[in-house]
Amino acid sequence: MAKTCGHFYLNCCSTVESASTPGISQLLGLLGIVLQDLHVVVGLNILTNFSIQFAIPAINVTSSSVANAVLEAARDIKSPIIIQVSQGGSAYFAGKGLANDKQQASIAGAKAAALHVRAVAPLYGVPVVLHSDHCAEKLLPWFEGMLEADEAYFKEHGEPLFSSHMLDLSEEPKEQNIATCVKYFKRMAPLGIWLEMEIGITGGEEDGVDNTGVDNSRLYTQPEDIWDVHTALSAIGPNFSIAAGFGNVHGVYKPGNVKLQPGLLGKHQEYASKKLGGKEEKPLFLVFHGGSGSSKEEIKTAVVNGVVKMNVDTDTQWAYLVGIRDFVQNKSGYLQSQVGNPEGADKPNKKYYDPRIWVREGEKTLSARVKVACEDLGNVGHL
Ligand SMILES: [Zn+2]
Repeated sequence: MAKTCGHFYLNCCSTVESASTPGISQLLGLLGIVLQDLHVVVGLNILTNFSIQFAIPAINVTSSSVANAVLEAARDIKSPIIIQVSQGGSAYFAGKGLANDKQQASIAGAKAAALHVRAVAPLYGVPVVLHSDHCAEKLLPWFEGMLEADEAYFKEHGEPLFSSHMLDLSEEPKEQNIATCVKYFKRMAPLGIWLEMEIGITGGEEDGVDNTGVDNSRLYTQPEDIWDVHTALSAIGPNFSIAAGFGNVHGVYKPGNVKLQPGLLGKHQEYASKKLGGKEEKPLFLVFHGGSGSSKEEIKTAVVNGVVKMNVDTDTQWAYLVGIRDFVQNKSGYLQSQVGNPEGADKPNKKYYDPRIWVREGEKTLSARVKVACEDLGNVGHL
C-alpha cells in the first residue's frame, strides 16, 4: 500500500507497493495533488489495490455551472474526476466580452476555474485533478501565465494551483516538440506538476485548431517517437503522460476513413517495455484524445493498453444542450412572456425563466453523461 503523507504528492513520502504495479504511485500523485480531505485520501488508497484497470475521464469545463455538474456526477458515483480547461474555455470562463490578444482572458479564466473548483471540491468530497488542455506553440503565453500562477500558489500553499498541464507541440517538428516539453517540464517537476504532451496528431477541429485536412498517416504515432519522448522526460521526472495519435479525431462525425486503432497503444507499451528491459509491462501513461463518439469496445481496448485519462468534451457539450433544449421545447408556453401562460393570462413565469431552472436542466443531462463516461472507463465506486 502507498502510505499517504498529507503533503498531497504521494511521491514525496509514499512507498510504492511493489515493482509489479509501476506507475500507480504516480497516478495517485496525480490524483492526490489537490486533496485536502484525509477521508478521501484514505479512500484513494483503495486504488493501490490495482487489480482492475481503469481510466479517469477529463471533462472540459467552460463555466462554474459545467464544473459543478461534473463534480456532482463524480460525487454520485464515488469516483475521482479530472476537470480541465482549454485555452478557449478559459477565456470563456473569464468572460467572452474580454480582450484576449495577450492571452490575458485565458490566463485569468484558467485561474478563476481552478480557484472555483478548489473552493467547492471539498464539499463534493471527491479527488479532483485540475488540468489545462491543448497548448500549441502560439498559445505558450497562456501556458506561461498558468505556470506563474502555479508558482505563486506554491509559494503560499506549498502546492501548485493546477495538478497538471498539457503542452501540444505536435504540429511542430519532433525535436522542437520534445525540446519545448523538456524546457517546461524542468520548471514544472519541482512543483510536482504533471505534464501531458502530444506526439502525433489528433484529427478534426477543436477550439480553433483545425486538423481536418491532415494526412491520415500522421494520425498514428510511431513507437519510436513515443520512446524518444519517454527518454527525454523520464530523465527529469516520472509525472508525465503521452497523448499518442491512434486515429483520434476531435468532435463527432459520420464514420469516415480514419479508423480508431486503440490496439496500437499496446504496441507502444511493448516497445517501451522492451527498451526498459522488460521489467514493466506497461511503462507508459497514455491519454485518449477525441474520445467522444467512441464505442465502448474501443474505450475498453484503450484502457487495457494503458490509457489513464480520456478527454470528453464534444459529448458533454451535447449533453448540456439536451436538457436545456428539452426544457425550452416542453415549456414553450411558459417562456413567451414574463406573465401569462397556458394556465392563465395573469400567471407569472418566473419559475420557468430563472436561469437556475433551465440551466439546471442542462446540468442534469451533462452530469448523467459524465457518469456514462466514468462507467465506460471503469471509473465507478473507487472511493
Ligand atoms: Zn484533445
